[in-house]
Amino acid sequence: MTDTIFHKILNREIPADIVYEDAYTYAFRDIAPQAPVHVLFVPKQDFATINDVPEESAVVIGRLATAAARYARQQGFAERGYRVVMNCNGDGGQTVFQIHLHLLAGAPLGHFGTPR
Ligand code: 5GP
Repeated sequence: MTDTIFHKILNREIPADIVYEDAYTYAFRDIAPQAPVHVLFVPKQDFATINDVPEESAVVIGRLATAAARYARQQGFAERGYRVVMNCNGDGGQTVFQIHLHLLAGAPLGHFGTPR
């Protein structure tokens, strides 16, 4: 099994503000938030990068997206909007090698790639 900081969070070996968990997915606040709301959705199944997810496991990524949307509805910002991002490898800025979906919300984030 892969051993990243996120696995330690899932196993409660290091503290985190876990805001969501079900049989497949867990989510916690990012330690260095890039928006007023910044939550990471992580599958319990191990894949280091999105490159490593085979077609037959696409549902793993789908569950991250639907969990994020459910959280957005529960928190009341689904209609105002939010951004979801998955980084991959060096050029994508990935630093933790267990796949995860960033959910950013709570302020106008601007057009993607446009400086605010
Ligand atoms: P990546 O750069 O791999 O797409 O995203 C990794 C994210 O994990 C970063 O936004 C970083 O701030 C967050 N992160 C790294 N270490 C920890 C930690 O120990 N706790 C929490 N809650 N977030 C972390």
